[in-house]
Amino acid sequence: KNRAQRKVWTEADFKETMPERKANAHKGNHGRGLIIGGSAEMPGSIAMSAVAALRTGAGLMTVATAKSVIPTIASNCMEATYLTLDDTNGFLNARTAVPFDQYDAAVIGMGLGRHQEAAGLVQQAVEAEGPLIVDADGLYHVRSLLNRLNHRTGPVVLTPHPGEMAMLLDVSVPELLQSPFAYTKMFAEKYQVYVILKGTFTIITTPEGAQTVSTAGNQGLAKGGSGDVLSGIILAMIMQRQTVTEALGNACFVHGKAAEWLTEEVHSVYDLIASDISAGITNVYRTLL
Ligand code: AMP
Ligand code: MG
Repeated sequence: KNRAQRKVWTEADFKETMPERKANAHKGNHGRGLIIGGSAEMPGSIAMSAVAALRTGAGLMTVATAKSVIPTIASNCMEATYLTLDDTNGFLNARTAVPFDQYDAAVIGMGLGRHQEAAGLVQQAVEAEGPLIVDADGLYHVRSLLNRLNHRTGPVVLTPHPGEMAMLLDVSVPELLQSPFAYTKMFAEKYQVYVILKGTFTIITTPEGAQTVSTAGNQGLAKGGSGDVLSGIILAMIMQRQTVTEALGNACFVHGKAAEWLTEEVHSVYDLIASDISAGITNVYRTLL
């Protein structure tokens, strides 16, 4: 019976739901996004998220990270602005109060690290209002905050790969993969969150338990950093005028289709790397919208 409720997010859905860019638009119309993460040992991830968000259409992007990480990001993304957060030896702690209310949406977790001092930063994000996406190491820290998620006013989107989803559920990966739809639905309903369970196919689940599948993408994406690009795309989509479900479907579609086009026309499934993906967004937009 569940099967009939599952929809595949198609090219037609993408074309139908992507908001048009108004001729009289200004940058404020396309969202102010905040990306929190990065550390001395993982400086590249949030750079890729920031570039992806801008390529997807975000109006303004701010990256909140450790001082030592900023030059790496700035040399790869000239359009972003920065918020310097306090760090301990290049790893973020929670001593800086992040002004979440100045942004339309935020994503936290990429390159953050699993050290205890970062937990308070994820807590700040959970206690703030507005749409919040939690990815990567943010998912590790959010485990102890799951019961607070349904008190938020804005939607929460968790974007785990199977290893992270299994950790959130406290089951093994093989166990999760035997019933990914059922496990994810149970979790999304219980904590009232949107869940994007990433993989060869991606399952998008709403807090109401409705499930959509994205089949876009290929094995060229099976490399470090692909998920960081997706989280930037999701952030940008959420800030544009569409429902959260549409934003998530369109984000997975654009990410996957960009990779498909790149591995057909520019790269191969062997040599595609995560920082290439954003360049493929151009083709998805130019040919489909
Ligand atoms: P992460 O593991 O967080 O870096 O995320 C990996 C991203 O790449 C997700 O969006 C996955 O859905 C996608 N991906 C990884 N491997 C494949 C594959 N074999 N086919 C399609 N998409 C993939
Ligand atoms: Mg990841």
